[in-house]
Amino acid sequence: MTITYQAKPESIETRLYINGKFVESSDGRTFDVVSPTTGEKVAEVFEASEEDTNAAVAAAKAAFPAWSALAPAERGAYFKKLAPLFLESHNELAQLEALSMGRPVSMYFESFHAAENLYHYSEAGFGNVGTSSLNTPGFVNMTLRQPFGVTAGIIPWNVPVAFLIIKSLPALMAGNTVVIKSSEKAPLTSAFAATLIDKVGFPPGVFNIITGHGHISGSVLSHHMDVRVLSFTGSARTGRIIQEAAAKSNFKKVILEMGGKSPAIIFSDADIEKAVEETKHSIQWNSGQVCMANSRIYVEESIASAFIELFKEKFSAVKIGDPLSPETTHGPQVDEQQFKNVQAYIEGAKKDGKMAIGQDFSESSKGLFIMPTIFLETPEDARGLKEEIFGPVVHINTFRDEAEVVKKANDNEYGLYAAVYTKDLSRALRMVKNLEAGTVGVNCTSPTAAGDMPFGGYKGSGSGREGWTVSMLENYLEVKSVMIKVDDL
Ligand code: NAD
Repeated sequence: MTITYQAKPESIETRLYINGKFVESSDGRTFDVVSPTTGEKVAEVFEASEEDTNAAVAAAKAAFPAWSALAPAERGAYFKKLAPLFLESHNELAQLEALSMGRPVSMYFESFHAAENLYHYSEAGFGNVGTSSLNTPGFVNMTLRQPFGVTAGIIPWNVPVAFLIIKSLPALMAGNTVVIKSSEKAPLTSAFAATLIDKVGFPPGVFNIITGHGHISGSVLSHHMDVRVLSFTGSARTGRIIQEAAAKSNFKKVILEMGGKSPAIIFSDADIEKAVEETKHSIQWNSGQVCMANSRIYVEESIASAFIELFKEKFSAVKIGDPLSPETTHGPQVDEQQFKNVQAYIEGAKKDGKMAIGQDFSESSKGLFIMPTIFLETPEDARGLKEEIFGPVVHINTFRDEAEVVKKANDNEYGLYAAVYTKDLSRALRMVKNLEAGTVGVNCTSPTAAGDMPFGGYKGSGSGREGWTVSMLENYLEVKSVMIKVDDL
């Protein structure tokens, strides 16, 4: 199928969606969204003020009693109406993301992800069941699970619609009401999603979507006394601030999904072609702006030169260009700040290791593009191997045995995803046991994930898990123990 993408959609929604209405910000403030490809202004978006953020929470609070009183199937009916609208809007969503954050339209998947999750959660509500017990003589005891009230989601810019979905559907299906704050770097698809939500006709106040920076709206939400659960995806720096705000306000429950410095480990018996293809895709997809990207690769010494040669060839072969062109597979970094961060990491890494492929920043180029970059022979304690770069930059180092590579892989504050390539099952399972990561891929790497597997981080990559089997039950339902004394039992 050939899809023609417009340079710019005719109209772009830029308002806040509060209490079932699209509104401009109360103080009229806006901020610009600029294309990272052309540097041109794409849209002027309304920035939620403190008053607007409070209004969204108040609307969610007012909507809670009626929404939580619905049967799960009644709530699910809204989800079933919304799912096809996301599928029908694939092109618009892909185009808006290409314009605002530079993701190639050829790589857009979030409309499918949204629909899949909407269908899943539309049927998930009856999974909200408690336990019962006859273990206390004279009592029939039970647990009930009940929604918290108002929940909030603060989302990043790299896959915004996926996070809007992940943070709203399980909360809503459990009977909570929701305020989502989109990222100031990629707010357009969230505002577009609000137009779909509006078409479905959710009761006013149930599903609110606001846009703004960390200061003011993010901070107001994380300090808010009426927000009872806050699920955050973003950087560790912001996660720390949000955790503190929760402790300083109402001890709201906080779920944190943060960064990564994920290792992929390639043993000499692995299928090298497959390992190269998949590890290259992991660090290149979305121009490396992926929390779980395998930004560190450890290759067994005996196959290192063959692996590196093939990796260089495939990594250099990406199609760099306008993200609106269906042929492009590698777009720019999201904005100037991100571009400069990655550039600074590359300049620093040049002093520590050997750049095998990469770019010369003294040559001027249009757009905020970072070429695929590989560093070799970098000392393990170098900054580039410890910190998240969030760009198409990979460090490839070598190892001799399992013990050495486990030590290297785990010697990092992050622990989101690890990958192991080997045909030896026993070795694979020893590695699975020893690696400190929330997800381990065996003969596969990120972004491979499964809806029914919990996703989240060990160590500094986060706390809590999200996913079909855990989100609704563990994150968005309180547990109440009920003791019932029964005469003559
Ligand atoms: P970020 O922390 O800068 O921003 C994330 C969100 O937090 C944005 O909506 C932002 O407005 C908001 N925010 C910023 N300051 C705030 C404050 N003081 N109070 C409340 N909210 C505030 O992160 P980012 O640059 O948007 O995203 C990139 C980061 O996200 C990377 O570290 C990446 O690894 C991580 N990430 C993690 C996952 C995961 O599932 N673990 C997935 C995607 C991205």
